[in-house]
Amino acid sequence: MTAPSPAAFFADSMLGRLARWLRILGYDTAYERVAPDQAIIDRVLREDRWLLTRDGYMAKRRVLRGRHTLLTSDRLEEQLQQLKRELQLDLAIDPRRASRCAECNLALKPVPHEEAARLVPAFVAGRHAELTSCAGCGRIYWPGTHWSDLLARLERLRGPDPARVVGP
Ligand SMILES: [Zn+2]
Repeated sequence: MTAPSPAAFFADSMLGRLARWLRILGYDTAYERVAPDQAIIDRVLREDRWLLTRDGYMAKRRVLRGRHTLLTSDRLEEQLQQLKRELQLDLAIDPRRASRCAECNLALKPVPHEEAARLVPAFVAGRHAELTSCAGCGRIYWPGTHWSDLLARLERLRGPDPARVVGP
């Protein structure tokens, strides 16, 4: 009855923030700030991606064969909630899905402990066992305040009453 969640997404230009969060959650999410509709459609079909759009006109394009979600809200929490409801998207940080770089969409790799001390301030290296890095841009990620905030928001989305999501 329920189709499996899409393996890869393409977020249109109005959904940059959603794209970054999907990447951190470990979902392969292509995003281009500026792209003509036809280029977006070509890439979605070529790479077998699921289109996420705020554009009602795009959502009517038959060539997409229904492989899209028309997001109904501008608010991140409500967008994630809609994806969870309609695509059964898992909004937990799951170690079986490597987080991706919010900027590059590349899967993050664990940083060996001896290397970590060289890359980040000592107080960070000492406190966080799990540093990851992006081979594309060299950014180092660790579960700091940004992640706590993310996890708290997602925790709210997983709450017992998903209709009542309250944002900041
Ligand atoms: Zn990167």
